[in-house]
Amino acid sequence: MLSTDAAEHELDVTMNAFNQVEPFEASDEFIRQSVDQADLPSLMVTLAMLTGDTSLIGPEVKPPVPPMRVEIAPQGGMSKEMQEKARRLATAALVAFRDSGQQGGGIPSDSLLTQCMQYLLPRDIDELRPLLAHEMGFTKDPGAPDWTRESVAPGVKFRVAVIGAGVSGIAAGYRLQQTQLDFTIYEKNEDVGGVWWENRYPGCRLDTPNFAYSLSFAQKQDWPQQFSRQPEIQSYLATVASASGLRRHIRFGTEVDAMRFNEDRATWTLSVRDGSGRVTEEEFNAVITAVGILSRPSLPDIPGLDTFQGRVIHSAAWPKGLDLAGKRVAMVGTGASAFQIGPSIVDQVASLKIFQRSPPWMLPTPTYHDDIAPGMQWLLKHVPYYGRWLRFWQFCISIEGRLPLTAVEDDWDHPVSVGRANEELRQGCLKWLATQYHDRPDLLEKMTPDYPPTSKRMLRDNGVWAAMLKKPYVELNTTGIEAFTPEGIRTKDGALHVVDVVICATGFKASDFLAPMKITGAGGRELHRDCWDGDCRAYLGISVPDFPNLFMTGGPNTAVVINGSAIFSSECQVEYSLRAIRYLLETGHKALDCKEAPFVDYNKWIDAGNLKRSWGSPRGNGWYKNKKGRASQTWPYGMLDYWNLTGNFKPEDYKFIKRD
Ligand code: NAP
Repeated sequence: MLSTDAAEHELDVTMNAFNQVEPFEASDEFIRQSVDQADLPSLMVTLAMLTGDTSLIGPEVKPPVPPMRVEIAPQGGMSKEMQEKARRLATAALVAFRDSGQQGGGIPSDSLLTQCMQYLLPRDIDELRPLLAHEMGFTKDPGAPDWTRESVAPGVKFRVAVIGAGVSGIAAGYRLQQTQLDFTIYEKNEDVGGVWWENRYPGCRLDTPNFAYSLSFAQKQDWPQQFSRQPEIQSYLATVASASGLRRHIRFGTEVDAMRFNEDRATWTLSVRDGSGRVTEEEFNAVITAVGILSRPSLPDIPGLDTFQGRVIHSAAWPKGLDLAGKRVAMVGTGASAFQIGPSIVDQVASLKIFQRSPPWMLPTPTYHDDIAPGMQWLLKHVPYYGRWLRFWQFCISIEGRLPLTAVEDDWDHPVSVGRANEELRQGCLKWLATQYHDRPDLLEKMTPDYPPTSKRMLRDNGVWAAMLKKPYVELNTTGIEAFTPEGIRTKDGALHVVDVVICATGFKASDFLAPMKITGAGGRELHRDCWDGDCRAYLGISVPDFPNLFMTGGPNTAVVINGSAIFSSECQVEYSLRAIRYLLETGHKALDCKEAPFVDYNKWIDAGNLKRSWGSPRGNGWYKNKKGRASQTWPYGMLDYWNLTGNFKPEDYKFIKRD
């Protein structure tokens, strides 16, 4: 059913496998009850599109979409009266749709599509239109390359290696397949999924809304929750890889240890180690890295860890079938992983001691673990394009997200906030903390951060963390760890905490991009040693001078941490890399190498942007900054900026090597 033929881009995974709905015969009353549980803004545009009736998206039911604060205004900020009116209109439209044989839902006219998009956004959509079209993809798959190898360079051989088969590697493979270029994906794990394959700890789930966290070319309608669990996301990625025919290009259980650029041939030689340890070399014309930034676990740099006689587990390497029943467990760290693990294991263990260095800021999200309501699920299953519009709507909200709340204001002088909006966010979060710990001033004190919110990753909270901490056999220890001992953990006050298991939820080596691969570029320059020296930079997060035809996804300063989606960024990087390869092939070149000047200018601009964000301020900490104190992971601007920058390949930013 799924085409791998580049000539049939319109018939991609999106339109076929993930977009089917079942016709319905439900009663008027059932429809009304389902609409009661609907996300209204996305339902109204769906119905306007299905029926062509633009009164469904008229001004009297247009959501005002207030800016995101501590919480997101439900239903796009529609008033109660507006919601009631919208529900009445939607129910009548659905009843009429049912009775008319459910034949609507063809490709909408440009004008109707524009009205629908404009309905969901509080701003003029003109400058956003191409980006929105990319995410919507009604008429075709807009991210698909409009070329194939044969169409731009008939007979020319050009092999591409992709390293990693997580979300970004799947995106790269899918697009490469559409170009009909020869490519191989190397994946160190036994299956696709990357972080979603590796992180199987109890409670692992998304902490960004799920519909928007999906590939533009493989939009899934039937997510069970707004923040789905790891198995659901892993299964989605596995399905995309299978359905699109990508698996035959992937070499599982195979790790790339090193690669070096051959100046005479302008190719890359990869040293590839398979599961048996056998190392072979393979040559490619270009390499796209898709190894993620949160893939190399970081164990705490605390003396004695190797002397501990019990079991040490990193959150990202959770042993299958691990039984913690009756065990005395210590957990080091209170970041995103710990926040999901703790409440999930607390009812099994004999005792749980949590060692916290700094408390996280929490975003109140009462519905965090909730299933999508049955009525809403029914609508997603039966109303054509509803899931697609819901994804689009979530995407629209995230374009700006909470980015304005991170702004550093020069005239704002406060020890724990960086600007007025940031302070407003802090106050909102403090209120949430006060309600969570109103009966436990000791915990309230320990859980109150002393740094600006958003300066490191904020966590979703629905109250389960506080409920866990209040259990009699749970302790939140903030004394500081001095050392691990054979029996457990000794804190700085001299106390020994005897435990059976230590869970290190201590994060990843996020700033060591592409480590531990040894990457040797033109002139014998080694990327980590001679170029980055612990402070990684790239042009657009994609290219580095002296490393021709090496394209990164998830590279330096591309992590979107408060707005947007990592998947969107990855797709931008993949599509940019393919534009560059197309240019090479079309113009008779074999390699391109980023010039120094755009690289330097771009990074100055990035640094200036990050200094204006909470995470770039001196109080910013966590994995956003590298050991040199520079915010080397974070993207400080809007999503539209990145879209615009990567939307055009500019040959003037590169030097070229001509084909022989
Ligand atoms: P993390 O956010 O880096 O948190 C690591 C935790 O370990 C922090 O509390 C840190 O304390 C603590 N820690 C590190 N070294 C320590 C030491 N030597 N002694 C004591 N404490 C130490 O790591 P993570 O929780 O694995 O999350 C990493 C990122 O992965 C997240 O920010 C998020 O982007 C992503 N993630 C996403 C999801 C999701 O979508 N559902 C789930 C999990 C993770 P300090 O804060 O003081 O440094």
